Amino acid sequence: MGKVTGFLEVDRQDRKYRPASDRVRNYKEFFIELPEQTLQAQASRCMDCGIPFCHDVKGLKGCPVNNQIPDWNDLVYKGEWRQAIRDLHSTNNFPEFTGRICPAPCEASCTLNITDDPVTIKSIECAIVDKAWKNDWILPQKANDSTGKKIGIIGSGPAGMAAAQQLVRAGHEVHLYEKNHKIGGLLRYGIPDFKLDKSHIDRRVGQMLDEGVIFHTDTHIGVDFSVKKILNNHDAIILAGGAEKARNLPIQGRNFNGIHYAMDFLPQQNRRNCGEINKSPDELLATGKNVVVIGGGDTGSDCIGTSIRQGAVSVTQLEIMPPPPNKEEKLVTWPNWPLKMRTSSSQEEGTNREFSVMTQSFEGDIDGNVKKLHCIKVDDDFNPILGSEFQLKADLVLLSMGFISPTYDGMLEDLEVNLDSKNNVLANDIDYKTNCKKVWTAGDMRRGQSLVVWAIREGRQCARAVDEYLMGKTLLPR
Ligand SMILES: Cc1cc2nc3c(=O)[nH]c(=O)nc-3n(C[C@H](O)[C@H](O)[C@H](O)COP(=O)(O)OP(=O)(O)OC[C@H]3O[C@@H](n4cnc5c(N)ncnc54)[C@H](O)[C@@H]3O)c2cc1C
Repeated sequence: MGKVTGFLEVDRQDRKYRPASDRVRNYKEFFIELPEQTLQAQASRCMDCGIPFCHDVKGLKGCPVNNQIPDWNDLVYKGEWRQAIRDLHSTNNFPEFTGRICPAPCEASCTLNITDDPVTIKSIECAIVDKAWKNDWILPQKANDSTGKKIGIIGSGPAGMAAAQQLVRAGHEVHLYEKNHKIGGLLRYGIPDFKLDKSHIDRRVGQMLDEGVIFHTDTHIGVDFSVKKILNNHDAIILAGGAEKARNLPIQGRNFNGIHYAMDFLPQQNRRNCGEINKSPDELLATGKNVVVIGGGDTGSDCIGTSIRQGAVSVTQLEIMPPPPNKEEKLVTWPNWPLKMRTSSSQEEGTNREFSVMTQSFEGDIDGNVKKLHCIKVDDDFNPILGSEFQLKADLVLLSMGFISPTYDGMLEDLEVNLDSKNNVLANDIDYKTNCKKVWTAGDMRRGQSLVVWAIREGRQCARAVDEYLMGKTLLPR
């Protein structure tokens, strides 16, 4: 521990955003980096408390990849940045992703958070890895020997990428199959560029190429290519295809034009930004429209930020849950992730948020285009409150009510893989093995809709399980 009294002397200071009026003019990232000296002072606030809940000791709450947060806070405080990135990489393959888009459960479980503001862990993590890239400290880690084993990974989101990087470093021949044109899964096509610039993914893909990962993009396993063939040609396969089946809202009027899933809308903008698609008749744009986003989570926020950047006239977000409390009762919630009112950067940019609202039907015009939502307020048990009906103008409705499971048709069906009660691929989080011979699974496909940091954890742990199975032992971290 660098400075015993740091937390008594220094107040929390975190990254700020560029003003909304500036940032909505483009799709660029907009946080303002903290100066190095400020970051060092912030790192000195870490108390190195006896039980660092932040890095999830013994399955307590905190960082799912078990980042050794007090250790690298200490290194940053002392200015030992190069050692800090070594430490950070020992638990997390892609800290530049989590340093930008993780909700930071570590900060909620920071011991300082009981009586004060938590350490700015996420910003420090991001600064360590950004500095390391800038200084060329991040190099390919090539395996010395080849094991002669061939592994296929299907799905190139954070789970597939993490598993691929771990396994190639262990000396295996790793093939990563992806149905989309580019690597990254939801990092690439779901999460908007203003939250995560895609150059961060490209840089990691470059590192992984140098380490020996063989990428197969535009390859839809189970559709273009038989999964059984892949299975026969590899010593092990990992299913990391995510949870792509979105929750629908099957109410009257659902078939009107202009009602779309969030994931029909968001990927188009990311593809437009990188020149992957040009104008097409199926183009979805919020420009000049009254937009209603149904669903209050991360995906809903991303729809808001994207609609605002496209020039929507108005954006309203509907949430069926009641508004959460403004502040948590820390003595009751800590070290868990507390339910409290949070305002995302996109919500801050200009949206009308409505809570306890149920949409009962859509109304359209004679051309079949959606024009209105018929809504009603609900009580805390979701019972409609009679007399509270109201209508909302809408030219574009974006459904972002979460994802219910992976898609079963094709790859999973052909493998006859067992599913759990929620229709995710069945495997435990110790050996990640499915019921099928030579088949493992990780990430949202196993766990259900979750977070990038969990996908990285699952990819790493699954890689270890596969390595141990193939080699009889493993040096990959748990
Ligand atoms: C809009 C949106 C915003 C989000 N924002 C955040 C956030 O801010 N912070 C956060 O932590 N989490 C966020 N999440 C959640 C996070 O992105 C996911 O939990 C995470 O990406 C899951 O990783 P994964 O590798 O398991 O799957 P995915 O990222 O879903 O990747 C799966 C990949 O498998 C490919 N694939 C599927 N089937 C096949 C097949 N048969 N053949 C070949 N390829 C296949 C898919 O094309 C995809 O590329 C967000 C999710 C969405 C939808």
